[in-house]
Amino acid sequence: MTSRPTTSTLSHTGQVLSRAVTFQFAVDPNAQQRILFAKCAGARRFTVNHHLARVKGNLDVRSAEREVLGEVGESPEPSTSSLSWAAFSFINEFNSWKNGESEDSPVNEDGTRGLCWRHELPGDVFECASVDAARALENFSASRRGERSGAPVGFPRFQAKGKVTPSFRLRNRATSVRAPSSQPIRFTDPSHLRLPRFGPVKLFGPTRKVRRMIYLGRFHVYSATLTQRAGRWTVSLTGVAAKLHQAERSRASRHAVPVGVDRGVISLCVAADANGAPFESFEGVKTLKQAQASLKAANQALARTTPGSKGRQRARSRLAKSHRKVVNTRRHLVHQASRSLVDRAQVLVIEDLNVAGMVRNRRLARSISDAAMGELSRQILYKARWHGVEVRVVDRYFPSSKTCSGCGDVKTDLDLSTRTYSCWACGLVIDRDLNAAINLARWQPKEPSTVTLLELTRAALLSTA
Ligand SMILES: [Zn+2]
Repeated sequence: MTSRPTTSTLSHTGQVLSRAVTFQFAVDPNAQQRILFAKCAGARRFTVNHHLARVKGNLDVRSAEREVLGEVGESPEPSTSSLSWAAFSFINEFNSWKNGESEDSPVNEDGTRGLCWRHELPGDVFECASVDAARALENFSASRRGERSGAPVGFPRFQAKGKVTPSFRLRNRATSVRAPSSQPIRFTDPSHLRLPRFGPVKLFGPTRKVRRMIYLGRFHVYSATLTQRAGRWTVSLTGVAAKLHQAERSRASRHAVPVGVDRGVISLCVAADANGAPFESFEGVKTLKQAQASLKAANQALARTTPGSKGRQRARSRLAKSHRKVVNTRRHLVHQASRSLVDRAQVLVIEDLNVAGMVRNRRLARSISDAAMGELSRQILYKARWHGVEVRVVDRYFPSSKTCSGCGDVKTDLDLSTRTYSCWACGLVIDRDLNAAINLARWQPKEPSTVTLLELTRAALLSTA
């Protein structure tokens, strides 16, 4: 499910693994495992905060020294050296700190040094958390250097209990050429996944596909991330997979004419080809509407409760459940749509939404559709890569909604509530989303010299007239 580029690796059956893939399952932990999960999530927060506090303290001391030096008039280079923000330095520092080997290690009541509860948990939790802290700081400093696109990233937030989603990661510390049965993270039977220090953990849902891929050496697990949302734990198995079979990647039956995909205002998306024919439309189905209605009701119910009361707790957990339902339903829908589009079209044209830089829209319906569309683009991009489908990304200033797909005339203004596009120049009356999808399908990656595509279309129409 990720699109991060990965280096290729070999599996125990000699397959080349290069495709980043994630499988997700709901988990049914026993009472003991549930307690340990919560402790691990706490340990992750603790570790991240440990690193952030150290770095913040160091930054503060240095900036104070710099101020003093500035007043004295010397070259402002503080005497306190800066800390390394590299992941490996974080791992080493935290290990010696928690094992009682560094000067500032905690001292326990019985005189021993080090973090007294460190042996209760898998050591990997601390190391992965150190890597996460380093990554968050790297994002912050890249943003400060101006090397990161999107909204500016501030200093990473401290992880407050109850404010962040409980989560932690365990690595599968084995090379991919080792047999699946000797990997630390492995399936022990169709419904149980073994995790280091936890033993077999029960999973919900069908695991046949992932087990088969692992067995055949077509998927290797790098890590397992456990996350608790609305009271339920899920595990994400992230790793690398073999490329899809050639037959999957080059289907002769695919639609040869480019297909444009526009986000619908009411439906999830509308697709049409460059010839102006409707291709496919994905409705926001009834289940999603029902889920959204219950989300709204749960929101209102929460507002009526008294802060700190039992009723508020109940209302809050009910709200979280409705929220999870909406998210899951939408994700399922978006997967269906992206899969169908990639299966049926050879060239897909989508809009670059630039979600990070997009102005937040206050209207709920609109922001939900924006979020779904961002997710749809993401899925189309990675699935297209798997299946050998070409994707053209149109810059977001292309007036796909305002252009007439019949004559190329561009309106200066088009209200969001106008469901139908009617052109005053040629008299075309067409569904707004369909019109935009056709315009996207006709978009060309490189415009031939100074003559724009719109002018070409117009010239062609005039010559036939
Ligand atoms: Zn027109």
